[in-house]
Amino acid sequence: MATASSTQQSAVGQYNGTKNASGNYEVTLIPGDGIGPEISKSVERIFDAAKVPIEWESVDVTPVLRDGKTVIPDEALHSILRTKIALKGPLATPIGKGHVSLNLTLRRTFNLYANVRPCKSVPGFATHYDNVDTVLIRENTEGEYSGIEHEVVGGVMQSIKLITKPASERVARFAFAHAIATGRNHVTAVHKANIMKLSDGLFLQACQEVAKEFPSVQFDEVLLDRACLQIVQDPAQYASTVMVMPNLYGDILSDMCAGLIGGLGLTPSGNIGRDASIFESVHGTGPDIAGMDRANPTALLLSSCMMLRHMNLNSFADRIENAALSTIAEGKSITADLGGKASNTQFTDAIISKL
Ligand code: NAD
Repeated sequence: MATASSTQQSAVGQYNGTKNASGNYEVTLIPGDGIGPEISKSVERIFDAAKVPIEWESVDVTPVLRDGKTVIPDEALHSILRTKIALKGPLATPIGKGHVSLNLTLRRTFNLYANVRPCKSVPGFATHYDNVDTVLIRENTEGEYSGIEHEVVGGVMQSIKLITKPASERVARFAFAHAIATGRNHVTAVHKANIMKLSDGLFLQACQEVAKEFPSVQFDEVLLDRACLQIVQDPAQYASTVMVMPNLYGDILSDMCAGLIGGLGLTPSGNIGRDASIFESVHGTGPDIAGMDRANPTALLLSSCMMLRHMNLNSFADRIENAALSTIAEGKSITADLGGKASNTQFTDAIISKL
């Protein structure tokens, strides 16, 4: 479990993986699309250099068509079922047409109900803000992402926002447990129940009910628009609470927070389920810089540190994270998205030299 002082926080949740005959944990690696393979390679190199006791099982998730449906290849599914843990590069999703998002498919298949997204200013790396320290828990299985859409009549489309009591209670309980485990002891429900009285109303009510089960944790609630305003005005207001919110709000709010600390190249996440967990960067496939050795691997690397803490390999996580953050603070070998001139490879070399 993370200490309160660690830069990024671990996720609450159970990891039931076992060591193999060589004494290592096996971890599924999904390199992903676009910049995914480049940043995955960086993580592999850094893990090798730090002698992390894991073995990667690299799998391909190129979608296959079965009975008219796009599905994830069996090899990848079986690997995650066996290892119970995965590090995943970004996956491309066709816009407005084509197959359903594989990210959504993975989250649904393994019931990864809570998405943990910490976002913290890197000490010594100057941006407009130096005091961002938000932790956002996004409901990961329903809301607008349920994929229930249809054409009512020509020119009129309908998307269903699905909110259920069990999924809302489950993610709320996770948020309270996470608040206790990370020493924040405060949960803020973020919602729009003033407008979506039934759906967000149910989510909010579930949070209020679950709060009664955790009397030692402070609870409050805020409208999404108000939270956005307050965070950009003074992020410190949200530095000691865990925000919990429906799916779409978490997707958008986490990118906004990333913008405050230097961009998408820096923010990690963990998708936590009961039987498996998948860790991934918040950013996508970076199609504009793919194959150019320009991608910043930090977000995936910090996701891998969250994963290590989830596996109780905290000392490796701390060492790798400190090396990455001090490389960024030093500023000599950083990638273009952070204002530097280094390639991904040079940045990765610099991190390895600090391990
Ligand atoms: P994106 O995050 O890929 O890129 C947005 C901008 O940020 C681009 O300019 C990109 O170059 C930059 N960027 C992102 N990651 C970076 C990194 N590590 N280093 C340096 N710069 C980085 O978002 P997009 O262009 O909207 O999406 C591209 C594809 O990624 C789409 O198919 C989308 O569906 C997919 N996507 C996947 C995931 C995921 O797998 N979890 C998440 C978001 C988007």
